[in-house]
Amino acid sequence: MNIRVPKSSGFCYGVRRSVEAAFQLAREGNAYMYGEVVHNPQVVEALVQSGLHLIHDLSEIPLEHQHNAKILIRAHGVPESVTTEITALGMVAIDMTCPHVKKIHVLVAKAAASGMDVIVCGTPGHPETLGTVSRVTTQAVIVQDLDEARVIIPSRTFAQAGVCLVAQTTHNQADYEAVHDYLAGECPSITALTAHATICGATFARQNELRGMATQADACIIIGGKNSSNVTKLYDIARALCPHTVHIENAASLDAAAFSDAQNIVIAGGASTPAEDVAKVEAMLRDVCVG
Ligand code: SF4
Repeated sequence: MNIRVPKSSGFCYGVRRSVEAAFQLAREGNAYMYGEVVHNPQVVEALVQSGLHLIHDLSEIPLEHQHNAKILIRAHGVPESVTTEITALGMVAIDMTCPHVKKIHVLVAKAAASGMDVIVCGTPGHPETLGTVSRVTTQAVIVQDLDEARVIIPSRTFAQAGVCLVAQTTHNQADYEAVHDYLAGECPSITALTAHATICGATFARQNELRGMATQADACIIIGGKNSSNVTKLYDIARALCPHTVHIENAASLDAAAFSDAQNIVIAGGASTPAEDVAKVEAMLRDVCVG
């Protein structure tokens, strides 16, 4: 049995720095993460056990603890209204928004200021897209893929100043390219398009590496939170190239025996998957299938 792990597996730069900051805040006390700092239930649980409180609204912080409470802003950012409210309530924002995400905030705010509408190629309701559209003062539309774009975009009227297209940092590159080509070409309701390919380098490299490896594999195991956008995208990519692909959250949910006939297995983690989780799955597979 040949087991391969992509070099790009494990925390990306943005997630690593926000998780390190989270553990530091947990030690300092009176600190809160606004939403899950990373889409990985095990890491979030470890942080809660270390003393960092998980909140989804600032009102969850008891009044007597609000003054100088430290609020960790996750790598994929929050809506602008949240940072404003943190300051207004006398709390301190520890802003770990990834620079790649901040760059998108600046791009869409500038585009809106010049009268352009914004289309985000991403997942509706995802924290990053919510944070991005909160910076748009003109019309903002979210589409996930070409099929959605073909349905939603022609029915809208867009600003004379044109449309700015961005991608969620963890979106599927192929979906972004298909949406871009449609908007730039055949779409009738858009006359001027300014596109920014904002899928981050870490996501791009991870997707490409997995694509290359999955074509040669007879089984793939994708590890990470079921609620993680980037992990789900990796699963979709591997599954399209290798039918025997599973998505598990960690080693505890691995059915190792199901892979005993596989000769070439790829094990990959997402940007929010600790490298130790990938190593545990690999060790378990070797134990059960190699002996
Ligand atoms: S996936 Fe990309 S944008 Fe998101 S935190 Fe990691 S490096 Fe930053």
